[in-house]
Amino acid sequence: MENTLKKFKDYLKKIEQYTEAVELLTWDLQTAAPKESIDRKIESISFFSTEIFRMSTSDEYGGYLKELSKPENYEKLDDAMKLTVKRYVREYERFKRVPEEFYSEFTTAKSRSEQAWEQAKEADDFSIYEPYLDKVIKMTKEYVHYMEPEQEPYEVLLDMFEEGMDSKAIDEIFEQLKEGLLPLIKEITAKEQPDLTALKGNYSIQGEKEVQNLLLDYIGFNFDRGTTGESVHPFTTTLCSGDVRVTNSFDETNPIDSMFSAIHEGGHAIFEQNIDRKYEDTVVMTVDMMGLHESQSRFFENILGRNINFWKPVYDRIGEILPQFKDVSMEIFEKAINCVKAGPVRLQADEVTYCMHIILRYEMEKAVFRDNVPTAELPELWNKKTVELLGVKPENDGEGILQDMHWSDGSFGYFPSYLLGSIYDGMFLEQLEKELGPVDTILEEGRIKEITKWLTEKIHKNGSLYNSKEVLQRVCGKEVTAEPLLKYFRDKYARIYGL
Ligand code: ZN
Repeated sequence: MENTLKKFKDYLKKIEQYTEAVELLTWDLQTAAPKESIDRKIESISFFSTEIFRMSTSDEYGGYLKELSKPENYEKLDDAMKLTVKRYVREYERFKRVPEEFYSEFTTAKSRSEQAWEQAKEADDFSIYEPYLDKVIKMTKEYVHYMEPEQEPYEVLLDMFEEGMDSKAIDEIFEQLKEGLLPLIKEITAKEQPDLTALKGNYSIQGEKEVQNLLLDYIGFNFDRGTTGESVHPFTTTLCSGDVRVTNSFDETNPIDSMFSAIHEGGHAIFEQNIDRKYEDTVVMTVDMMGLHESQSRFFENILGRNINFWKPVYDRIGEILPQFKDVSMEIFEKAINCVKAGPVRLQADEVTYCMHIILRYEMEKAVFRDNVPTAELPELWNKKTVELLGVKPENDGEGILQDMHWSDGSFGYFPSYLLGSIYDGMFLEQLEKELGPVDTILEEGRIKEITKWLTEKIHKNGSLYNSKEVLQRVCGKEVTAEPLLKYFRDKYARIYGL
């Protein structure tokens, strides 16, 4: 068995190395690759992905899994290896049911669709993207059906992004939130909106990049184990445990978006960077519970970043880099970063109406996967739902259905995790204050890294050793509930808006 375990570990390492190549090519494609190299790069990504697929479905790999799953061997494994074998057996069985040719075609279709999305978004024209999206939707359905022929496709997708969560549980907790938030949003938006003209102006992109690096460093991003880049839509990618990268996109008329994207992606990256390296070459290093992942990015972005005390220790330095901020008082800045206003674009949404954006996407995904709404009708349905949930209508597809890249690469079932993440955050905040005292004070005194350390000790270092439910139990001692998040919203916005 020792021999099998060693061979299995070597084999996993090989798969990881191929994965690293795919991630690096993808990073390049989205941040730097010149136009005329794109087709070739997509081909290479498809080649390596197919190799990974072949390795993950080979008889050799299946043999190791079978051997290590035998009770007499399994019980001798440590916890991380037990989890690795258990998860990979499930994946192996799923993958084995997917024809190799289909998988390769699906990978190519997703890459092409990502490119088409980018073009369509630039042109505000859904028709450019429609045939590609349609293909990805059809192939995602087919893909999931191959993997779990007995289960409902959307449930399988939800489970893939947040193990243990099904639409029944999500329906319930989103409903709890919706009921609490609708009256609160009404109350806030009835109040006078702050005057934010002090922030208007042209900012230096170079300066915004410097501020990004300052913020990343401030919250605890480790530049020896990560780097930054630029892309249309910000994202985080892990090439290997010593290389976690974040991207950002910069706008010279709006420096605030790139600040918050930096903090958000930084939160994802800090999670990845702080997983205990003793788990290297096990599944524990791979956190694919996206609700838990988003809880960490959103904790930094919202719970900490939208707290004015977060900015007090660094505000003068930001003013030195972007001089316009010298004329923006902290009072105005606090209002700017906590301005609750319903708009059509998720990435520009405040943390309160943001919840409605996610509920919208969750309902859209149910419409695509359960009601089989034709792809051509999706923009209209999107606009209708935006009016229903947010009271505004998108001006064009660019600020409507084309605003997010998630569906272009087949990531259906991902969106709910953003909101689950925020719901977990309410619970983490409650517990953190019980243990460390008021967050306001810690931030004001510039001790933010104590919070990062707390999160690392409680959550990051364990990687995916525990699922979200178990993490909530271990950290907060209770089941998932939206009540702490609602309380956080009510207390905070009552103060800011004088409700
Ligand atoms: Zn995120």
